[in-house]
Amino acid sequence: MSKPKGLYVHIPYCVKKCPYCDFYSVVDRTGAEDYVAAVLEEFKQYNENFDTVFIGGGTPTSIGDGLVRLCDALPKAEEFTVEANPGTVSRELLTALKRAGVNRLSLGVQSFNDGELRALGRIHTAAQAEEAFLAAREAGFENISIDLMLSTPRQTLESVRKTLEKARELVPDHVSAYSLIVEENTPFYGAELPLPDEDEEREIYYLTRDFLEDMGLGQYEISNFARPGYECRHNIKYWTLAPYVGIGAAAHSYYGGRRSCNSPDIAAYIRGEGRGATSETVTAEERLREKFWLGLRMTQGVPYGGEFPETVEKLVGQGLLELSGGNLRLTRRGTDLANLVFMEFV
Ligand code: SF4
Repeated sequence: MSKPKGLYVHIPYCVKKCPYCDFYSVVDRTGAEDYVAAVLEEFKQYNENFDTVFIGGGTPTSIGDGLVRLCDALPKAEEFTVEANPGTVSRELLTALKRAGVNRLSLGVQSFNDGELRALGRIHTAAQAEEAFLAAREAGFENISIDLMLSTPRQTLESVRKTLEKARELVPDHVSAYSLIVEENTPFYGAELPLPDEDEEREIYYLTRDFLEDMGLGQYEISNFARPGYECRHNIKYWTLAPYVGIGAAAHSYYGGRRSCNSPDIAAYIRGEGRGATSETVTAEERLREKFWLGLRMTQGVPYGGEFPETVEKLVGQGLLELSGGNLRLTRRGTDLANLVFMEFV
């Protein structure tokens, strides 16, 4: 029997669009019920064993009961994650999700500072984020991740420290800490934003990394930290090129040696159109390059068998990569300049 796969489900709805976000989502949720039905229809075409399920978005929790029905109908995977926005959860919803088989919650906290949350256009306050976390524990979630956003407008080392101290009080099992990237085609692009400069950005990252490690959350990927055994198995599939199926509008798959993507057109998706709108075979050369530029994101690195000898020799000579126990991995300096390293393999 083939190895178990990952299943990703995209819910393209949000209560409000955040000005920095370039994920595909819309705020008109009137078609959400039909959308869930279309997702379950698409799911039927995969006769697979899924050991991880990840429902992301958008804001999956913004469709409430529709999300519960969806979770009820999906396989009870060993790791079953739902992304939740603290402004869209209630005790009832969390309890219903837990009953429906969800065993991991990824809470989009971003910051425990209300000024920073307002600057990011988030729909929730720091107090709501804390309440949502505590409600999730009460609902029985033993595996809770929180997302934090670094280097956001008006953020300082001191404000990050306070956010981290609040996180420590709550004792999450996993933290994802991504730096804000100002993407084209978002309202943040071209706006005058009071962002930390490059040096401050690096200090914020170091502070976060060291603080989380002191909390017992080990770094296992550039932006991800977990208690031992709580690393996100689903996301590890992306970085290690394990196959996964993505269903829903705009969802990506890596399945059967092909990378494919559904059309983002929600109305068409509901009509059963646009599945696998783009699809291409991954060549051996592409796969090898991906092994490096995705796999090097993980602190364990990638098993190294002498591939790309000149590039690797150069990067090792520059102190950006190191060989350790047969694995090639980023050095601390390499982590700071990770994008430069990845570009060498793209
Ligand atoms: S809630 Fe999340 S997905 Fe929705 S707009 Fe904000 S950042 Fe993007």
